[in-house]
Amino acid sequence: MAQIKLQNVEDYYEIGEVLGSGHFGQVRAVLERASNVHWAGKFLKLRRSASSRLGLERKSVEREVEILQSLQHANVMALRDVFESRAEVVLIVELISGGELFDFIAEKESLSEEEAIEFLKQILMGVGFMHTKNIAHFDLKPENIMLADKTMPHPHIKIIDFGLAHCLKQGEEYRSLSGTPQYIAPEVINYEPLSEAADIWLSGLSPFQGDNDEETLKNIVGMIYEFEENYFTQTSTMAKDFIEKLLVKDPIERMTADECLVHPWIKPLTRKQADNRSRSSINMKSFKKFNAKRKWKMSYNMVWACNRLFRLQLQCKSRSPEDPELRQCESDQEDTETKPASLIRRRLSSSS
Ligand code: ATP
Repeated sequence: MAQIKLQNVEDYYEIGEVLGSGHFGQVRAVLERASNVHWAGKFLKLRRSASSRLGLERKSVEREVEILQSLQHANVMALRDVFESRAEVVLIVELISGGELFDFIAEKESLSEEEAIEFLKQILMGVGFMHTKNIAHFDLKPENIMLADKTMPHPHIKIIDFGLAHCLKQGEEYRSLSGTPQYIAPEVINYEPLSEAADIWLSGLSPFQGDNDEETLKNIVGMIYEFEENYFTQTSTMAKDFIEKLLVKDPIERMTADECLVHPWIKPLTRKQADNRSRSSINMKSFKKFNAKRKWKMSYNMVWACNRLFRLQLQCKSRSPEDPELRQCESDQEDTETKPASLIRRRLSSSS
């Protein structure tokens, strides 16, 4: 188990601007006082009592910390330090300043399949590494694939957010209903025993998208998806074959991360395959459209969460604004009323 320091994090780090927010707290820029090195601090609110719905159970935080500690890989966000106070745990992690991969791609005029593969390979290497340690991420989605620094000519991928990750033990069944509707694997929705294969069910463009979450989930379980032909006019046949081998309902039949890395689209075997790939490109018009819709949904969720927060604050209004319970209200963005009852989502960015 990680060495969790009980000292005050501010004695060691100067706390800076907010970089992002999650369901249970914020991620902020921090500056290490002793070295003047910049890091990021993930502030996670702890649940105060077993009956409370607010905040995270300490054991979930411990699990996230343990997992991050065991994952030292160039494509996985590194953990440096952990601090704990009565109300929260702070993970000091490497600062990832290049933003989300999808936003970086959406700014480009064009993207060849070869360039896309360079990113995909890094994701697969990070994911493959986790899987060799029997760790599954269970929340791989565009928001959790970031770039170390986008000013570099070949930006470096960093996988973040191990809040739903789990270390799978031999002989032990693990089931979970957590995830994000658009990107969730059918075995998660069906509440079947899960394996690392759930991470490979990854289709950035989410062809299952329905008008609402329930329809999206139904489409995934029923394997109802459509690849609009005009989206794929510039796509090589090898790329289509690769995607089809990911979207396999039976997790045992799905490619593993290592198999993905040797699929001929990623690693061409012949000159013909390589030429075919180098002539093909990603349809940027549809990619930009998808990304804009994704971003719109995220802001919609943010507004929705703020409204909910406002309502919660009204409920808490009899208390002093300094009341720590009120701060906890602020972290409560979970809603099980308006979403499919069977699907528990942990996080704000996960809602659709
Ligand atoms: P969620 O509720 O979405 O699961 P979370 O509480 O687990 O969130 P993260 O997803 O880890 O938190 O982080 C929230 C956001 O903070 C990210 O989407 C990202 O924008 C930003 N962020 C996370 N880690 C870093 C980092 N190391 N460097 C810079 N920004 C980061």
